[in-house]
Amino acid sequence: MLTALVAAALAPPGLLASPGAQAAQPRRLPWRNWSDSQQCLPEARVAPATVAELQELVAGASGVVRAVGAGHSFSPLVPTDGTIVSLSRLSGLLGHDPQTLQASLWAGSRLGDIGAPLEAAGQALVNMPDIDEQTLAGCVSTATHGTGAAIGCMSTFIEGLQLVDARGELVDCDHQHNPELFEAARVSLGALGIVTQLRLQNVAPYRLRRETVWMEFDEILANAGNMADRHRNFEFYYVPFSGMGFTDAHDITDEAVSSTDKLDGNEGVRDLQTARDWLQDWPRLRELVLGSYMKTLPDEVTVENSWKNYASERNVRFNEMEYHLPRENGIPALREIRKVVETQHPEVFFPIEVRYVAADDIWLSPFCQRDTCSIAVHRYFEDDYKPYFASIEPIFRKYHGRPHWGKLNTLQPADLRRLYPRWDDFAAVRREVDPQGRFLNPYLAGLFPGAGRGGAA
Ligand SMILES: Cc1cc2nc3c(=O)[nH]c(=O)nc-3n(C[C@H](O)[C@H](O)[C@H](O)COP(=O)(O)OP(=O)(O)OC[C@H]3O[C@@H](n4cnc5c(N)ncnc54)[C@H](O)[C@@H]3O)c2cc1C
Repeated sequence: MLTALVAAALAPPGLLASPGAQAAQPRRLPWRNWSDSQQCLPEARVAPATVAELQELVAGASGVVRAVGAGHSFSPLVPTDGTIVSLSRLSGLLGHDPQTLQASLWAGSRLGDIGAPLEAAGQALVNMPDIDEQTLAGCVSTATHGTGAAIGCMSTFIEGLQLVDARGELVDCDHQHNPELFEAARVSLGALGIVTQLRLQNVAPYRLRRETVWMEFDEILANAGNMADRHRNFEFYYVPFSGMGFTDAHDITDEAVSSTDKLDGNEGVRDLQTARDWLQDWPRLRELVLGSYMKTLPDEVTVENSWKNYASERNVRFNEMEYHLPRENGIPALREIRKVVETQHPEVFFPIEVRYVAADDIWLSPFCQRDTCSIAVHRYFEDDYKPYFASIEPIFRKYHGRPHWGKLNTLQPADLRRLYPRWDDFAAVRREVDPQGRFLNPYLAGLFPGAGRGGAA
């Protein structure tokens, strides 16, 4: 009943059948992602309650099947006119091993829901991204990352996983069993099947001290490399048209839980938007006003259990482009980005985010074989992001960046193939497990040509 009501409220006019014709016309529920950069009208949206139900569904679906997590990807990974499957009912901790500190979790678990049960089991995630709304499967499918020069992306935490393949069969894989499938599945874009469970290598619970310090941009740049090596987790932001930014560093501590007063990040972004509205024609005045204000902002220190001390709330919606650059290219690229933003894009007000991620060996990981500096640019979700991102993307590309799989970019299949040494290995495994392209929407069919389907989204 509730589903029907929601469908009725969300469906575009003319889509729902009139009472007399209800049996003849299918009722479709539109889908859109967090930022509204992606939408589709799939034939079906389903949330199986059991793995058996999921298997039956995949085996019986007539068109393309795409898994969705929390819908927090900006890129066109999910849209399909076929079936969208959510694992929201397959969520939570399945089991844990106190010796190895490994835990098995349902793939549909939201990051924000697993910190407490893991802590009760004597474990914690090694690292987390800057929000905790995403699902585990969604995160590993796009190589979601936090920051930490010596810490890999979330896919590096996986020790084994289970998925439902194109025939509806349940397949387990890890370093020993089906190792090629495992290598591909650690970052898979949802193109191999529907992941049901993940086994993660965790660590013992830990407490983090997080310190946020406002600084002049030049001072941040002079110290960033050093700070990235000195702190367990280090990132920084540059606020365009201010000459100022802030550093955010996390380190393990046994201090008691505590917090200084905190600036509300969402309000802060709204204030930057207001400054843009009033002062965008006077960049020097804008810098004077913003810079002077930011110099008065106090440092913030929060001590909390790790899983409560990584994520922030992001209530002001945006679209985002993030590229992962060889670490040594990060600062030179950032200098160029600042120049382009401040000479060509007075409309921009979101801070630019810079993070560090360790190299790994995963075939489709943007961090494959290189330590990385990740740079992200944002545009308010109601504004057209294309002109800004089009100005910045050539800089990312010039510095050999690889795009975040879940974020906006305009790279073509040939560009991506050149960037990934193991691209063909992934494509071969993909063809083998899904020869008919049952998991390929149009975007993915473009990336991995040669399989069937990939119909219009
Ligand atoms: C506000 C915001 C903040 C963000 N912060 C960060 C950050 O700090 N670091 C970072 O790296 N990224 C960040 N992201 C990006 C985000 O983490 C990724 O795009 C992530 O993939 C989203 O997870 P999701 O659960 O929403 O998955 P979705 O976006 O719904 O799906 C992503 C991919 O996962 C696949 N998938 C989902 N579930 C399954 C399954 N069960 N089996 C197989 N495939 C599946 C989908 O098919 C799709 O290809 C942020 C995004 C937003 C909107």
